[in-house]
Amino acid sequence: MRVALKECEWEATGEDLLVVFDAREAITLSDPEGQVAALLSELRRAPQTAAELSVALGRHGFSLSEEDVTGGLSGLDSLGLIEDADGRTLGDPDEDERHFSNLSFYGTYASLDRRRAAFLRPLREAHVLVLGVGGGGSSLVQCLAGLGVGEMTLVDQDRVEPRNFARQFLYRHADIGLSKAERAAAWVRDYDPGIKVHPVDRWVSAPEDLADLVQGVDLIAGGLDGHPHANLWANEAAVRAGIPYVLGGANRSQLMYLSVDPGRTACLACDYADRPAEDTSEGIAYRIVENMKLSNPLTGPMAMQVGSLLAFEAQRYLTGYEPPRAAGFRVTLDMREGLVPEWQPLPKNPECQICRLAPPREGDRR
Ligand SMILES: [Zn+2]
Repeated sequence: MRVALKECEWEATGEDLLVVFDAREAITLSDPEGQVAALLSELRRAPQTAAELSVALGRHGFSLSEEDVTGGLSGLDSLGLIEDADGRTLGDPDEDERHFSNLSFYGTYASLDRRRAAFLRPLREAHVLVLGVGGGGSSLVQCLAGLGVGEMTLVDQDRVEPRNFARQFLYRHADIGLSKAERAAAWVRDYDPGIKVHPVDRWVSAPEDLADLVQGVDLIAGGLDGHPHANLWANEAAVRAGIPYVLGGANRSQLMYLSVDPGRTACLACDYADRPAEDTSEGIAYRIVENMKLSNPLTGPMAMQVGSLLAFEAQRYLTGYEPPRAAGFRVTLDMREGLVPEWQPLPKNPECQICRLAPPREGDRR
């Protein structure tokens, strides 16, 4: 394997070498003889194999066997400083250019064992079901398309209206009166003809309305308005099929999102089961909130924030570059506090009838 050095800088200070990859931290390595600095310099010159590095270091006056070099490389790998040189691209110059920033992002997480391209490939093969392409959903679609999701089904039953323009930037003036699902799909096709997109102009008024849509899907994202239980139906469809579900929304002063990793973390129904009794004042408040009619006060910056948080969580599920952050938590961002996030744990309810429907998944103990 040819080993490549990631973009980093270093400086010798006495017997130590200070290496910076992320500007937030410096790594201190003991390097009294300068071998590590020589190894880094060689790697910066060109990607090389351990055998080639052993020869090259000889020219710097260091007699190191291939095994010695391999040991040194595994140290650098554990610090996240090197990667497999051949895994830095997708192998097609046009695709590499299109995904330039995506590949660069995964460069931080790549190693000798995990190539940048290996993070991107599952996204390009993923099919995401987007529920609602309105406020949060329209920027969610844009973020997913940018990340390189290969296939999307977009569900919405609304028409484009002038009042949407404050926050739904997928749509243009000429789209007014037309199906949002259709126009959002048209945007995706124009943006990247390589993405498969299926518009579904449908009103979800019963759990069955989702049954055919979850087939072959890798992740469900978004939030349905209309019926107050629509998100619970989506939750049930997701858990039953073992598909991660990422949802979010807003009230007057908070943005909120969470994700459900079926069978592993709490689902939306676990949360509902935990609600205060109907006849307490807290219970009554819940009921009022649930049935409250609210002229949607979400502006562009807020709606984009929700869409972007959902896309970010979706990216974690689909690439595994880090574990999902909002699984088992309700994350709220308080607009009165400058969007400081608060992580409220959502415990899994052992009595939950919906969680029980989750199919067994690889690596889980039942
Ligand atoms: Zn549950």
